[in-house]
Amino acid sequence: MSAPEFTFVSGNLALDFVGTVGRRTTEPIELMPATVDLAVWAAASGTAGGALAEPPSDTDYADAVTLREAVYRLATAARTGARFTRKDLATVNRHAANAPGTVRLGADATVRRAGDIRSVLADVARSAVELLGGPDAVLIRECEATPCTRLYVDASHRRSRRWCDMRGCGNRAKAAAFRARTRAKASTAKVAVKQATGRRQSASGSGPAASE
Ligand SMILES: [Zn+2]
Repeated sequence: MSAPEFTFVSGNLALDFVGTVGRRTTEPIELMPATVDLAVWAAASGTAGGALAEPPSDTDYADAVTLREAVYRLATAARTGARFTRKDLATVNRHAANAPGTVRLGADATVRRAGDIRSVLADVARSAVELLGGPDAVLIRECEATPCTRLYVDASHRRSRRWCDMRGCGNRAKAAAFRARTRAKASTAKVAVKQATGRRQSASGSGPAASE
């Protein structure tokens, strides 16, 4: 099986991590089913500067999934007003207390990041804390595209973003709406032609009556 392509479109690292379960509220699909996939996600996130020095263990994987689900429930609580548990709070805070990845300025004026899986999860947890405890908590949305339902931060100027990713879900939704409009127009035109033909035929007395 080829590795899934992870996307980082939610506007927050913790919500991107939550997005490693796709289609959560419609037809959930686990995009990070094994420890090796966690390593791929961690590398793709760039928080530890590419590949991890050491591969994560199965315990790290279990920890990561627990953190991910706790963030999902807390973000959903922030979005909908649902209750959340102290256990989920404790999970996020435990990871946030670990040291995040390090950054330093390279001689070539680039940012050099480094870390291990613990630091990646610390970065995820800290992103969750900053989001859920900050002013952007009210901007957490669920993608309207079916079946996506990915969480994201609506940082749009008018706070009117409806999709997790304009290039993915947004484009697909717009294309579908366009097709629906075109279909509706075509069928309206067909009915109009049929009615006009019917009227002409019934006026000449040779055809069937116009259908209404
Ligand atoms: Zn989406």
